[in-house]
Amino acid sequence: MKDINVLVINCGSSSLKFQLINSQSEDVIAKGLCERIGIEGSQITYTPAGGEKYETVTPMPDHTRAIELVLKELTDPERGVVKSLDEIGAVGHRLVHGGEKFASSTLINDEVIKAIEECNDLAPLHNPANLIGIRACRELMPDTPMAGVFDTAFHQTMPQEAYLYGVPYRFYEEHKVRRYGFHGTSHSFVSRRAAEILGREYEDLKFIVCHLGNGASISAVKNGKCVDTSMGLTPLEGLIMGTRSGDIDPAIIEYLCNKEDKSVHEILNVLNKESGVLGLSGGFSSDFRDLEKAYREGDQAAVRAMKTFIYRVVKYIGAYTAAMNGVDVICFTAGIGENNAFIRTSVCEYLAYLGISIDGEANAKRGEEVVISTPESSVKVLVVPTNEELAIARETVALL
Ligand code: AMP
Repeated sequence: MKDINVLVINCGSSSLKFQLINSQSEDVIAKGLCERIGIEGSQITYTPAGGEKYETVTPMPDHTRAIELVLKELTDPERGVVKSLDEIGAVGHRLVHGGEKFASSTLINDEVIKAIEECNDLAPLHNPANLIGIRACRELMPDTPMAGVFDTAFHQTMPQEAYLYGVPYRFYEEHKVRRYGFHGTSHSFVSRRAAEILGREYEDLKFIVCHLGNGASISAVKNGKCVDTSMGLTPLEGLIMGTRSGDIDPAIIEYLCNKEDKSVHEILNVLNKESGVLGLSGGFSSDFRDLEKAYREGDQAAVRAMKTFIYRVVKYIGAYTAAMNGVDVICFTAGIGENNAFIRTSVCEYLAYLGISIDGEANAKRGEEVVISTPESSVKVLVVPTNEELAIARETVALL
């Protein structure tokens, strides 16, 4: 493996997360976050490895200025971690939607930028922001190679019966309406890592990966390929999430537009931002730490939110077990999957029919790689912390 430093950039419409990762040691050398880009009160947070956190409030009218400040921090004579930009060998960009154009990561050139632009309609909030990040980096580091790693790419192996919706086929042909799926970098990273932990060949196993964070999705991975996933054309479909509804009857939208005298846009906003466990708990919280505490105190709003969340996960696991004609490994990852033992136990209690049993002591661990099933369990159940930044850095180096 080449020994270079890779700058991993995750660019949102008003924020930018970054990590500088050494490709050989895979250590994070520095990381940080620019917030409120283009809005008053913008701020950069920067943490060199082993050092203290620096927070600077400074104007960032656009993403170019934000990246300029990131590079300035990284090369700062006192708190910087590299002497010059020459010590940054590549940039890896997290990109949200690659449509059907990108089934894998790619080096970025003019043609690729055009192809990403052509996917803008599919992710109008995310792709334009990702492109701004790419253009800003190209302006400031014109000679540094850059790679794009797509959230959708891992799911491009799904068979047609998994990605088609039951709507007129011309909607797919003319408007590209189909399931794409997201969090692909995480589903790929976690399933591969689980195979390594178990000392088994990746291609020999059937995995179900539960990525349970504020955004949540689940995927079925068979013989090293994704065969189904719960998010769809957009990240709104599938599991009940922090604030997103997940699956609903689509006719609810028109019904609510009439009942609440709202536009489709307004109802979709409710489905994205005011639904999920936040909505189910009557607006109490989208955060599972708050919900679990309230659940334990017997709060009925928290009880119904958590039970409904768990039930949906269980239904998807059942569906994907059927889709793959069995399952060998179930993985839990992301904020809730890695940290919330109660959710894992509650999900697995439903799965006794699969011969699953959980080791309470192993399951009590938090945020670390651990097999939580007992040796007798017929399906291995693991917690595997996801690391999308490292996965992006690895993909970037592999492309060079
Ligand atoms: P993510 O989007 O992956 O950052 O996940 C966010 C969710 O993970 C929130 O609902 C948090 O409550 C949950 N979470 C994160 N850290 C912890 C923790 N240490 N203990 C319990 N839940 C956590």
